[in-house]
Amino acid sequence: MSDCIFCKIAAKQIPSKMLYEDDDVIAFHDINPHAPVHFLIVPKQHIATLSDADDTHAGLLGKMMVLASRLAKEQGCAYERNADGGISGGYKSLINTGPDGGQEVYHLHLHVIGGAHPWRGAR
Ligand code: AMP
Ligand code: ZN
Repeated sequence: MSDCIFCKIAAKQIPSKMLYEDDDVIAFHDINPHAPVHFLIVPKQHIATLSDADDTHAGLLGKMMVLASRLAKEQGCAYERNADGGISGGYKSLINTGPDGGQEVYHLHLHVIGGAHPWRGAR
């Protein structure tokens, strides 16, 4: 899609603060972060919304979820079970779909949002 901003980022036609890239996906920091850690995992293939995904995309979507966990750890917001039995860390992973889902960029992407209680604001 020639007018799609995330296709342009995937094609390196516009810059991004890239975290990860392979043949199928690219991950980069969100330009307007909602928390100390906020990055996006984006398939290189143009899929407009999650509603446009079908069975042929199951492997790709699974790969995006597993990558979310790996990159969250690398960005310092891993969910951890501690030796004393406590738990700490963690992050939000979400996909906005359509107007009622708050989607602004119509190229499928998975948000990963972490840091201390990002859903309550960065504090
Ligand atoms: P959504 O509402 O789920 O469509 O979210 C789109 C996200 O893309 C927002 O969090 C934006 O801040 C982010 N975004 C838009 N343009 C860029 C860009 N050029 N580089 C990085 N993130 C972007
Ligand atoms: Zn696109």
